[in-house]
Amino acid sequence: MTSATVPSSSATVRVPAKVNLELLVGPVREDGYHNLSTVYHAVSLFDEVTVSFADEWGLEVCGPRAEGVPTDGSNLAARAAQLLARAGGVDEPVHIRIRKDIPVSGGMAGGSADAAAALVACDHLWGLAMTREELEEIAADLGSDVPFLLAGGTAMGSGRGEVLAPVLARGTYHWVFALSDGGLSTPAVYAECDRLREGREVPEPTPTPAMMTALRSGDARALGRALTNDLQPASIRLMPELGDILDAGMEYGALGGVVSGSGPTVAFLVEDTEAALDLAVSLTASGAVQDVRRATGPAHGAHLVAGPRPS
Ligand code: ATP
Repeated sequence: MTSATVPSSSATVRVPAKVNLELLVGPVREDGYHNLSTVYHAVSLFDEVTVSFADEWGLEVCGPRAEGVPTDGSNLAARAAQLLARAGGVDEPVHIRIRKDIPVSGGMAGGSADAAAALVACDHLWGLAMTREELEEIAADLGSDVPFLLAGGTAMGSGRGEVLAPVLARGTYHWVFALSDGGLSTPAVYAECDRLREGREVPEPTPTPAMMTALRSGDARALGRALTNDLQPASIRLMPELGDILDAGMEYGALGGVVSGSGPTVAFLVEDTEAALDLAVSLTASGAVQDVRRATGPAHGAHLVAGPRPS
């Protein structure tokens, strides 16, 4: 969609998916959450969220991955818009249209991405001009990953993942994502992780020197070796075929592979565009994966691609 085709009564925001380059999970907290130490990385798989003035609140989902996305008030984009309206004292209903290309329940934070996009789009359409800090605060109330999807790039996350800090990261990285048909529920994966670690002392998570060094140097091979996800054993336990997919990707020459977030998407890091194409073809031909997507990172966070000019 270009700016020429969008009426000024709409705003369209493009938002990336994420992969966790490192996801370290601490012991379960009293509130049931876990302290995390994670490195988020935004990749070039995008959803687009368009908000338009309307007589009443509404939401539609279209695009290649629309199936399974709720269209009622439980949609995270709708919740984000309502929360922002309350925070900004706005009483102007909007229609939300989500063009979905990020896999649903895939561990790539598609719902959180749409929430971040809705915040940026509505802020713009309603002319609220909230500060980045104000939007981040609302984002953190919506979900642990939402502040990162506002920011994009590569960043450290702590707390439940919502406390962001910059990380020195060089280079552009090439990714192949192996997608699975079924989704994995994030709470179920955390519960399985707790079960697998029962009776074991779990340390508070801190970033690893191997990951920080790899990112600082921009060395894709070192980054491939440093990819880590504490949830991976639990995801594989719940979906054993993920182990086979990881093995296949490494056999076909990936520099590293890791389950993305709680899965079931598996992310493979490769050397360059050509290697990405080769791996995508090999994985598809092997029959081990249902669908593959190529992408690069880091990508920009939620950003306006069409809409009224700021006054
Ligand atoms: P997580 O952020 O926990 O890693 P995920 O990437 O695995 O999540 P999502 O695609 O964000 O999974 O969807 C998780 C659930 O959230 C879905 O099952 C769906 O019912 C619900 N949901 C709410 N809003 C959205 C949305 N805009 N897009 C996708 N799913 C949504």
